[in-house]
Amino acid sequence: MRTLHRFHGGVHPPEHKHESSELPSSRAPLPQRLVLPLQQHIGAKAKALVQADDKVLKGEVLARAEGTLSAAIHAPTSGSVLSVELHAVPHPSGLPDLCITIAPDGADRWADHAPLDYRAMPKEELLMRLRNGGIVGLGGATFPTHVKLTSSPVQTLVLNGAECEPWITTDDLLMRERATEIVQGIEILRYLVNPAETLIGIEDNKPQAIAAVQQACANTGIEVVAVPTLYPTGGEKQLVKILTGKEVPSGGRPFNIGVACSNVATAYAVHRLVNHGEPMISRMVTVTGNVKTPQNLEVLLGTPIAELVRFAGGALPGSDGYIIGGPMMGLHVNDDQLSTVKGTNCIIVKSPQMFPPPPPALPCIRCTRCAQACPADLQPQELYWFANSKDFGKAQEYNLFDCIECGACAYVCPSHIPLVQYYRFAKSEIWAREKEKNAADAARIRHEFRLERIERDKREKAEKLAQKEKTAMFAAPAATATSASADAAPAQANSEDAAQAMITAAIERARQQAALVKPKNTENLTPQQQAEIAEIEARRAHIREIAHHETEPPKE
Ligand code: SF4
Ligand code: SF4
Repeated sequence: MRTLHRFHGGVHPPEHKHESSELPSSRAPLPQRLVLPLQQHIGAKAKALVQADDKVLKGEVLARAEGTLSAAIHAPTSGSVLSVELHAVPHPSGLPDLCITIAPDGADRWADHAPLDYRAMPKEELLMRLRNGGIVGLGGATFPTHVKLTSSPVQTLVLNGAECEPWITTDDLLMRERATEIVQGIEILRYLVNPAETLIGIEDNKPQAIAAVQQACANTGIEVVAVPTLYPTGGEKQLVKILTGKEVPSGGRPFNIGVACSNVATAYAVHRLVNHGEPMISRMVTVTGNVKTPQNLEVLLGTPIAELVRFAGGALPGSDGYIIGGPMMGLHVNDDQLSTVKGTNCIIVKSPQMFPPPPPALPCIRCTRCAQACPADLQPQELYWFANSKDFGKAQEYNLFDCIECGACAYVCPSHIPLVQYYRFAKSEIWAREKEKNAADAARIRHEFRLERIERDKREKAEKLAQKEKTAMFAAPAATATSASADAAPAQANSEDAAQAMITAAIERARQQAALVKPKNTENLTPQQQAEIAEIEARRAHIREIAHHETEPPKE
């Protein structure tokens, strides 16, 4: 029997799992419109390959992965591309993003696709197939799967079936109904990383899922481990700690300690891609809360929330919005036209009775309950203090980026402080400043490169001119060479010296001219060049000022 370990903190919010886990899952109907954001994963946005009026087949690539940390987007059904334009997307920023909208033709006709003989292909090629098949982590983080599996060596492969967030039951239903296919997907992951051991962690509040997966894993060498129900056991680092006793270092990832971690739903998606040739075009979504028939639906990506709620019998009276995801980490929205994306595991229809508005926040009383609950072993009250006072440097010192935004601290806070919002604000500010700094650095490098090129061009021109003059000087004596006398040789030597002196002088002139276009002397630049330099200097000054503020002690 495996020894289980404990992570720091954790909470026990009401589970609300049974509401949606009693019915078998069903397939959501084809909607009238599918809206597919190009950014459905962590990393670079996919690049659109289609335009309005294009006809597409089911499974066809709509947008290709850009770079290593990216994933492709595919057509969930056959139809026509209506537009490639900005559209509202389910993102905390509330900003619109580029989306491909498809009008289904109802035929649901597949593009050519076929299973892969994965054991016969190099692992690099199989990883590339995962990237081009749009496979990302379906546990919520949407990290491209091929990147997670690239690191080596892997001692332990961990499959995450914990599903600790209240109300969400997608992984539970998937494990109960499709355990064999999940295990087939796990075998592909094992082939890729060749781990010494493979563990599936499932919270012990899902006995049917545990039994189904245990049966599917018989004689495979995969170990199914029932772990105690405690939020947030499904956090990657927390599950790794429970199963292996190993701590993922601050700022690190499980692969830093020889562990590869993947969600059970991701393993299922890998199976569909490799054994059936089907890219990621759908996923299981829990539709629950203040809705007539809570249940789990197999949903085409791009389907609007409104269609799912309608299929689940419609919202009950008193509904006042939606949570995308669970109540601890989810996104509260009012727009029912937002679409299902790869990371959407749950839609909760809200009502004030189910989710009463939080009482007004009171001052922090330094009770440290948040620190006791924090699974990342942070000091949430200090992070709150630094974020509130915009002391972002200190927040980073206190490992802000180890915060998994699980909400356990806010859940126990007697002052009802929306702590996670402060952490998200601080993180976004730090990212924005880094982006600004990178942009300023890139502009500076571009400008200096340009000056360098101007200098080089001038130098080359001067050298060419001098060479030309030298050739001309030798050409003139050559015309009278027939009457060469005994003192001709010294004369030619003098000519060469003179020519060399001319070259040296020309190079020196070029150097002096180049000095005139150095950044500090802008007199010879055009007004536009001078404006560019002034802008760069201003940005530098701004960044220096920011850095200065970040190193100041927190304000009392
Ligand atoms: S739980 Fe709330 S009141 Fe208590 S220390 Fe943390 S932030 Fe302050
Ligand atoms: S949200 Fe962050 S600080 Fe709060 S308990 Fe979770 S990991 Fe800790």
